[in-house]
Amino acid sequence: MKHSDDLDFQEVGQMVVKKLASYLDASRSGSSPVVDLRSMADMVKDLQFEEFLGQKGMNLEALSSFLDTYLQDSMHVHHPGYIGHQVAVPNVASAIADLVHGAINNPMSIFEMGPAAATIEHQLIRWMLTKVAWEKGAGVFTHGGSMANIHAMLAARAAIAPEAWQKGNPPNLVVLAPENSHYSIARAISILGMGSESILTIPTDRNEVVIPDAIPQVIEAARERGQMTMALIANVAATSTGLYDPLEEIGLCCNEYDCWLHMDSPHGIAAILSAKYQHLLAGIELADSLIWDAHKMMQTSTLCTAVLFKEEAHLMQTFSQKGSYLFYEKENQGVDSLPYQLECTKAPLATKLFLTLAITGEQGMADFVDAVYDKARIFAKYMSARQGFSIVIPIEANIVCFQYLPNKIDQLQLREKLVKRGMFYISSTEIKGTRYLRLVVMNALTDLDTITGLLVEIETVGGQLLQT
Ligand SMILES: *Cc1c(COP(=O)(O)O)cnc(C)c1O
Repeated sequence: MKHSDDLDFQEVGQMVVKKLASYLDASRSGSSPVVDLRSMADMVKDLQFEEFLGQKGMNLEALSSFLDTYLQDSMHVHHPGYIGHQVAVPNVASAIADLVHGAINNPMSIFEMGPAAATIEHQLIRWMLTKVAWEKGAGVFTHGGSMANIHAMLAARAAIAPEAWQKGNPPNLVVLAPENSHYSIARAISILGMGSESILTIPTDRNEVVIPDAIPQVIEAARERGQMTMALIANVAATSTGLYDPLEEIGLCCNEYDCWLHMDSPHGIAAILSAKYQHLLAGIELADSLIWDAHKMMQTSTLCTAVLFKEEAHLMQTFSQKGSYLFYEKENQGVDSLPYQLECTKAPLATKLFLTLAITGEQGMADFVDAVYDKARIFAKYMSARQGFSIVIPIEANIVCFQYLPNKIDQLQLREKLVKRGMFYISSTEIKGTRYLRLVVMNALTDLDTITGLLVEIETVGGQLLQT
């Protein structure tokens, strides 16, 4: 039975699933553009925004034609030429979890409002903690890495300045971070009311990787000024380059100075599943907190993030300095995540990851990480052998930064023209003030043929730019 203002789920579901299945096939074939960037004015018209909003009663046919336009005007992440951002090509399992949630709507922050989802979140947090060897830890799923970073910074503050929750920040708190830390860190610090000037920069090398030997001096200089170091942030891996900071050395240094270490690891943590690339994370267990975006490297749709703490108490204390810990302990029916997170209402984020892992298996996910990390190395080697292409930034994750005829061509202009032509979607980044083109290999379908096509396309566009 359907609601009078609703569509028949069976009928509409079949139409949508059929349409999406052929959309996925078409995207994967790579035969049409990866994205067709049109003006918003044109899309407002073609999506019939005004018409649909002004008159109720969109029917099956109208929905079908709306979806055709909507899908057309979307970024096709399943396309082999999609090599742009740290955004997963989602496993079908993730789509199923999103669909189920859309139908049943269980905001599971309160156990009663989503018992199955809350149970899966609780268990997946345990699974993640086991991977990091934080058996005494705790964590919570949260809507994205940026929010997870705010949470971690709040926890770090609660540890060093528990009175801040009632009385506000002590004026002398500082945070240490490399200059290329993700902007969400600086935002978190400002949101906490500490002011962005309380971020002290840790020196980095020419690839913007932290120089651990330089850390003691920064901490000691802060001490001499009467400042208290609330946390130190390490990149795991850096958004721009995919390079991992030397975690073990940083961790030992932080332990020596009794300083909270936060691993900003939404992307790079996935390598923990990989026997081949796990070494990049050596020392991760020395941290106090870390974040984990499954929507980056673990094939889920946005969003699916966890923030983890080595010590359970740090999660319990974040939003209050009183003994909610006891409440958590004696709870026997199930756990409400609500007291321990920023969100009030929260989507059943973990279900997407659980279903995805249930299909790929842990080993399958590890193989995926290996495959895209391997590909980045193979592509980089192949590209650097080609005239005009230069690669100077080493490869650690699945990110390749490169330049094409850098002294002759504006790399940003080159990217813009390339993306407009539609067959490839790549990004760009700045490293130590220099602009690079950037590939993020997220797609198992992206292969050497794709890259050959990309290089030819870059040469064509580059040729056009040289003429003008
Ligand atoms: C992507 C990223 C973030 C932000 O995560 P979102 O899930 O996009 O909010 C934070 N830090 C680093 C290092 C990142 O790469």
